[in-house]
Amino acid sequence: MPHLPPRPKGQIDTSRPHSARVYDYLLGGKDNYAVDRELAEELPGLFRSAAAQNRAFMRRAISWLALRGIDQFLDIGTGIPTAPNLHQIAQRVNPAARVVYTDNDPIVLAHAAALLVSSPEGRTDYVDADLRAPEAILEAAGGTLDFDRPIALSLVAVLHFVTDAHDPRAIVRTLVSRLPAGSFLVLSHGDVTQFPEDVEAAGAYERRIEAQFRRRAEIEPFFDEDRLTLVPPGLVTAPEWYQADQLRPKPERSAIWAGVAEVG
Ligand code: SAH
Repeated sequence: MPHLPPRPKGQIDTSRPHSARVYDYLLGGKDNYAVDRELAEELPGLFRSAAAQNRAFMRRAISWLALRGIDQFLDIGTGIPTAPNLHQIAQRVNPAARVVYTDNDPIVLAHAAALLVSSPEGRTDYVDADLRAPEAILEAAGGTLDFDRPIALSLVAVLHFVTDAHDPRAIVRTLVSRLPAGSFLVLSHGDVTQFPEDVEAAGAYERRIEAQFRRRAEIEPFFDEDRLTLVPPGLVTAPEWYQADQLRPKPERSAIWAGVAEVG
């Protein structure tokens, strides 16, 4: 496995655009720098709608899981706080829900206090760690989450920041292997190949942020593990994933694939 690039702890690099800050800007947030805004402004409208569609998918999936009785969440690639955050969604349904947030970006760490405001009955924790080293995340999460009871693992809009050189499939396998039966995997991933006019802009973003978008056929294998079963409606675009009214949503252009799978 290749070494992770050295990362000075806690240092925010404002000379290069960062995924969390570009995403924050696309969502209308204020925790970003000129270099992030410049890149974001060059991106096609598809990216802006992708950010909003992705965040809305996260909200629906987490409410759906909380309503099904899931009360433990491991969220990797959390992002800069954007209300409602995952714990607020889960704790609205069940105030006793426990959430462990993980991100490797120092700006997310700097804002972690906003994520740690749990309901008194529940608990939230923040782990400054890298998805490319999943064992360390599992170990740290064990302090807050009970790995003998179902956990929802969310990898929402984060796997496209793990290039093939880091074997993202093996990372997902390692994480899922530690989840007990009745757990869930929540996953979303960027893909612009359906929109040929935006492929070039996506390529420029990939080079500057170190990202790797994947087409649907490359995302499907993340769910191909023995114990995983996609729940309806399967791997679909983010706006299509389980709308509460169950009416077929009106078709929207979307560069995000999303799915939720149960661990058997
Ligand atoms: N999951 C949130 C935020 C997505 S933005 C949401 O969907 O709304 C992607 C986040 O993943 C950023 O905050 C970025 O810092 C984080 N990230 C990127 N690569 C990562 C890695 N290797 N390990 C942990 N977090 C990572």
